[in-house]
Amino acid sequence: MKKLHMVDLFGQYKKIKPEIDAAIHSVIDSSAFINGNEVKEFQKNLETYLSVSHVITCGNGTDALQLALMALDLQPGDEVITTAFTFVATVEAISILRLKPVLVDANPETFNIDINQIERAISQKTKAIIPVHLFGQCANMEEIMDIAARHNLYVIEDAAQALGSQYMFSNGLTKKAGVIGHIGCTSFFPSKNLGCFGDGGAVFTNNHELAQKIRCIANHGSKIKYFHETVGINSRLDTIQAAILNVKLKYLDQYNTARGKVADFYDSAFSNIPQLTIPRRRNYSTHIFHQYTLRLNGINRSEFIKYLSEKNIPTMIYYPVPMHLLTAYSSLGYKKGDFPIAEKLSEDVVSLPIHTEITGSSLELIASSVVQFLSNIK
Ligand SMILES: *Cc1c(COP(=O)(O)O)cnc(C)c1O
Repeated sequence: MKKLHMVDLFGQYKKIKPEIDAAIHSVIDSSAFINGNEVKEFQKNLETYLSVSHVITCGNGTDALQLALMALDLQPGDEVITTAFTFVATVEAISILRLKPVLVDANPETFNIDINQIERAISQKTKAIIPVHLFGQCANMEEIMDIAARHNLYVIEDAAQALGSQYMFSNGLTKKAGVIGHIGCTSFFPSKNLGCFGDGGAVFTNNHELAQKIRCIANHGSKIKYFHETVGINSRLDTIQAAILNVKLKYLDQYNTARGKVADFYDSAFSNIPQLTIPRRRNYSTHIFHQYTLRLNGINRSEFIKYLSEKNIPTMIYYPVPMHLLTAYSSLGYKKGDFPIAEKLSEDVVSLPIHTEITGSSLELIASSVVQFLSNIK
C-alpha cells in the first residue's frame, strides 16, 4: 500500500517529469528569471483557458486579492463584504489596506457565502463583495452579481480553490470561476488545483482600465521603469513558475476530472450514512473538489481523526476557526454567536485525502476505515 497523503505533488510531477524538467531548464538557459517570455505566454494561455481579456500574474493569491482591492481606489474605512468561513487571506487582504471586512455567514450546505444575508450587511460605506468559491464549487454568482448591480458594488471573486470550475447562469450561459465578477483572483500555491513549485498567483479582469491599473500597481506603481505614478507593490510570478504552469495548465481539466472521480467514489460510499453529510452539489456550478469535505453529525471529530490517523489516513480541518473568532481580527468587534453556521461548520467539518494520484485501493481503505469507525461507536 502506498503511503497516503492529503496531496501527492511528487507523484503528479513524476508523470510529466520530462516536460517539466525541460521547461525549467529552458528558463535557466535563458536566465530571464524575471518577466521572461514564459510569463507572457502563461498569461495568454490562461486568458484563452478562462475566456477573459486580461490575466495579470503576481506573487501569490493573497497579493492577487490585495492588488484587486488596490485597483478600486477605496478609502480607509470603506467596507468590503465577505464570508466568515474562508481561508484567512481573504480577510487579511481587506484589512491590510485599512478597509473594513464585513462578514456574512455561510450556507450550511455549500459552505459558501449565504446570499440571503448579504443585503443586510450592506451600508453606505460598502464598496465591494468578495465571494469565495470554497473547496472548488462556485458561490451563487448570479444572485451576487444582481445584488452588486442593485447596490453599485464591485465583485472580486476569490477563485483560489476553484480554477477550472464552471458557473452556469439560469439563461444557460456558462463562465469559468474568476471571470464572472469585475475582478477575479487565484493562487498557484503547490497544493491548489493548478499549482506551481512555489508561490504564485493571478488576477483576471475583462476591464481594460482595471487591468492596466493592476499591472502598474504590481510593478511598483510604474508603467515606465523609474517613473512611478502610484504607490505600488512588488508582486511577480517567477519565470520558472510560469514555465511549470504552462505545462500543467494543459492537464488542469484532466486533473479536475480525476478529483471529481475521487469525490464520486466518496459520495457513493458515504451517501447513506446518517452521521455523515456529503458535500452538496449545486446545479449552477461544477465542483472541482479542491477539498472533499464531510460534515460529521453527532460524532466526536477528534476521535474520528485519531482513528483514521492510526490507520495512517491523514485528514485536515478546513477551517477550525471562523474569521470572526480569530485573535487577529478581534478588533472587528464580532463575538461568538454572530455567525452560527460558520461556527458550527468549523466544529463539524473534516476533509479527506483528494488528489490526482490517489489509487482505488487507497480509496477503499479510507472508505472502509470510516465505516468501521462508525460501526464501532454504535
Ligand atoms: C490559498 C488561498 C488564498 C491565498 O493564496 P496564497 O497563494 O497562498 O497567497 C486565498 N484565498 C483562498 C480561499 C485560498 O484557498
